[in-house]
Amino acid sequence: MLLVNPHSGKGQALSLFTGHVQHMLNEAGVPHTLVITERQNHARELVREADLSQWGALVIMSGDGLLFEVVNGLMEREDWEEAIQTPLGILPGGSGNALAASIHHYSGAQPVSSEELLVSCGFLLCKGLVSRMDLASVHLGSSPSNPTRLFSFLSLAWGFVADVDVESEKYRHVGAARFTMGTLVRLASLRVYKGRLAYLPVDEAKNWEPMSANATLTGPPDSLLVPLDQPVPSDWVVVPEEDFVLMLAMYQSHLAKDLYAAPNSTLDDGLIHLIYVRAGISRTALLRLFLAMEKGTHLANNCPHLVYTRVRALRLEPYSPKGVITVDGEVVEYGPVQAQVHGGIATLVAP
Ligand code: ADP
Ligand code: MG
Repeated sequence: MLLVNPHSGKGQALSLFTGHVQHMLNEAGVPHTLVITERQNHARELVREADLSQWGALVIMSGDGLLFEVVNGLMEREDWEEAIQTPLGILPGGSGNALAASIHHYSGAQPVSSEELLVSCGFLLCKGLVSRMDLASVHLGSSPSNPTRLFSFLSLAWGFVADVDVESEKYRHVGAARFTMGTLVRLASLRVYKGRLAYLPVDEAKNWEPMSANATLTGPPDSLLVPLDQPVPSDWVVVPEEDFVLMLAMYQSHLAKDLYAAPNSTLDDGLIHLIYVRAGISRTALLRLFLAMEKGTHLANNCPHLVYTRVRALRLEPYSPKGVITVDGEVVEYGPVQAQVHGGIATLVAP
């Protein structure tokens, strides 16, 4: 099943598909049914109810937002454990095509133009190899006893990156360049975000009583998390600083085609790559970081304000009553949030 969001990117996803990918699939003998999404959450509802035994793969031709819907639709099913093993494919048709950029990178290929990225992902689809992919379970907690839980395949962002994601929506007609424009605008009005950040380092073995399984939630239990209204367990690290410019948790390599944000990340390493930038960084230094991110050299930049660490779980408690948090580039409820990785629970058509 090939789900196309006709409004994604510059609104050309359907013509990009028919122009670049359809004949490849036909030549490779890959039968497919096109479904054009009619509204937000259409794809989510569709895969929640679908007879998955009919489909060899669910392929998204859109940005990351439509895959986010599909992943969550699958995880909301009673049979989530089996459903999430349906191979998922991505064809970049949006303005934010982070997962497509990541799998192109995992194939060992050099960075390419947007149309070449589409052809590269089309080719991967024709080959039809599959790999495991990590997901993170994300709890949003205005009501700690009854948290909203989402599943995320890409990122959790707060501060500078999340603001750019949202503010750049108005430049979506320029396609992927929207993030560059958004970054420059945000740099001009750079601000500090206050909050408390804590994480579970990779090497810590867990030794506390995990969150009791919540009967109302489907999906895997989050054995590394305690409820949001309780302090983090003692073997978590609480970051001493409370003034930040950005917090970015990534489970794949690319945040966009030219934002190679987590160079060490692979599809199913079972890790959250946590990057945060402390307040006090100059505009020039921050711009330098984003420029270095194009080549993925920002972590080797010796920037004293940047911290990079690999974790299994994290918690963020923003102090300001209003703000922006994004999950996979989509805006979610603002407030305390925590996440833990579930290594390799999804399946992706990938190199
Ligand atoms: P882009 O990268 O261009 O933002 P996305 O795939 O992220 O593309 O899609 C953006 C949003 O559009 C997502 O939140 C998705 O749920 C929503 N969406 C999907 N189909 C439609 C539709 N037919 N009309 C309007 N919005 C849609
Ligand atoms: Mg999007």
